[in-house]
Amino acid sequence: MADMNKIKETFSCPSCGERVPFAKVWILNNNSTYRCKKCNTELMPEKMSPLYFVIGFISTAGTGHLLMKMNQPFVIVFIGSALAGMIIYLAGVLFAYKTVRFKIK
Ligand SMILES: [Zn+2]
Repeated sequence: MADMNKIKETFSCPSCGERVPFAKVWILNNNSTYRCKKCNTELMPEKMSPLYFVIGFISTAGTGHLLMKMNQPFVIVFIGSALAGMIIYLAGVLFAYKTVRFKIK
């Protein structure tokens, strides 16, 4: 394992290394800030892609469209797209947690 050196970790405070709570990912956007509980530094996400937030909607619409093309009843289309949207949204949230870094505001 080569990562004993402290590199700037994702989803943690750049100044003290304290981890930003996972719950923060839900309210994450380009304007959101977070005050580190340990060193009181005000942080903001380094580069947030709106991709994380539109991806769910696109997948929902995409699945719905696909199911409709397959002549599925409306209920199936509705549930199918809701489920697909949810799964992909959750994956996006997890992806954000793994990739987003914070910077000092
Ligand atoms: Zn800190």
